[in-house]
Amino acid sequence: TEYVADSQRYKHMTYNRTGKSGVLLPALSLGLWHNFGFIDSIQNAREVLRTAFDLGITHFDLANNYGPPYGSAEENFGTIFKKDFKNYRDELFVASKAGFDMWPGPYGNWGSRKYLISSLDQSLKRMGLDYVDVFYHHRPDPETPLEETMGALTDIVRQGKALYVGISNYQPEETQKAADILKYNNTPFILHQARYSMFDRWVENGLLDTLDANGVGCIAFSPLAQGMLTDRYLHGIPKGSRADKDMSYLSAETVTNNLDKILRLNDLAQNRGQKLSQMAIAWLLRKPTVASVLIGASSSNQLKENVKALDNLSFSAEEINLIDDVLG
Ligand code: NDP
Repeated sequence: TEYVADSQRYKHMTYNRTGKSGVLLPALSLGLWHNFGFIDSIQNAREVLRTAFDLGITHFDLANNYGPPYGSAEENFGTIFKKDFKNYRDELFVASKAGFDMWPGPYGNWGSRKYLISSLDQSLKRMGLDYVDVFYHHRPDPETPLEETMGALTDIVRQGKALYVGISNYQPEETQKAADILKYNNTPFILHQARYSMFDRWVENGLLDTLDANGVGCIAFSPLAQGMLTDRYLHGIPKGSRADKDMSYLSAETVTNNLDKILRLNDLAQNRGQKLSQMAIAWLLRKPTVASVLIGASSSNQLKENVKALDNLSFSAEEINLIDDVLG
C-alpha cells in the first residue's frame, strides 16, 4: 500500500543543532547496521523505516558494508526509498560511510582517495540517491596521510555527492588534525560518530571537548550497548536477539558479565518511571555536544518505546550519582 507519512510527524520529536552548523538532527536517529540486510525481512525493514519517519526520525544512518552481505542494507534502503520516501527526499538526512573492509584487493578498505570516492559512487547507486547528506570516513587509517583522506572528503562535497562530512572512531588528537585540514579546505565538517553509552564513556575523556572547541557535533552509536541497556536480557537471552545470533558483535558472555549492572540500572530507571532503554538514551542527551543518539531497532515497537525517552530527559544530581555508582 502507498505510504503517506503521518501528518503529525514533527509534533513530538526534538531537533538538536549539530555543532555550529545549520543542521538540526532528531534527538533519536535510526541506524541500519543490523536488521536491514538481505538476511533480514525487508517487510520488517520497511515497517521500521516508515515508523521511524512517522515518529519524526528524519536521519537514517548507513554505511557501504552494512548487511550482511556487504552493501545489502544500502540496496534494501534504496528499494524502500524508491517506493515510500521518494517524495520526502528533502525531509530526510541520509548518511553513508567508508573506511572498513568492503571489497577485495588493496582499494576496498581504509582511507585512500581511491577507496572513498569509488565507494561513495557505489553507495549512491545502491541507494538510488544523487547525493548523501553526510559522508563519513568510518575509522582512522594509520598509513594514509590524513591530508589525502580529508582531501577526498573535501572533493566529494565539491562534486555535490555529499552536503556535509563527518568522521567516526577518531581519537581526540586525530580529530583535531582532521578538523584543522577540513577547516583549511573550507569543508563543512559537522559530525563525529562515536560509540557512547553508559557502558562505554571514552568520549568523556577529551573527545567531547575537542568537538566543542571545533563546533562539531557528536552522534552516539550503540547507545543501548547493542541492546544490553534495555529489558531485552533481563530474563536470559531470547531467541532471535542480537546476543543469540551468530553473525553479531554481541556475545551471550558479554551480556552475562554485565547482568548485575543491567539489573541495577533497570531499578534506577523504574524509579524514574522509565524503561531502561529510555533512561540510557536520556542519559546521553544530557550532554549538549550530543546532537543525536543513533539507535538500532529490530522492530517498530522498539522504536516507539525508545522515542518515549523524550518524555523524561532531566536527571537529578542524586540520580546521576546513583548511575555513576553502578557504572563504577
Ligand atoms: P543500539 O545500542 O541502539 O542497539 C540496538 C539493538 O538493541 C536493537 O537491534 C535491538 O536488538 C535492541 N533494542 C533496541 N531498542 C530496544 C528496546 N526498546 N527493547 C529491547 N531491545 C531493544 O545500537 P546499534 O549497536 O544497533 O548501533 C546503532 C547504529 O549505530 C548502527 O545501526 C549504525 O548505524 C551505527 N554504528 C556505527 C558504528 C561506527 O563504527 N560508526 C559502529 C556501530 C554502530 P535486537 O536485535 O536483539 O532486538
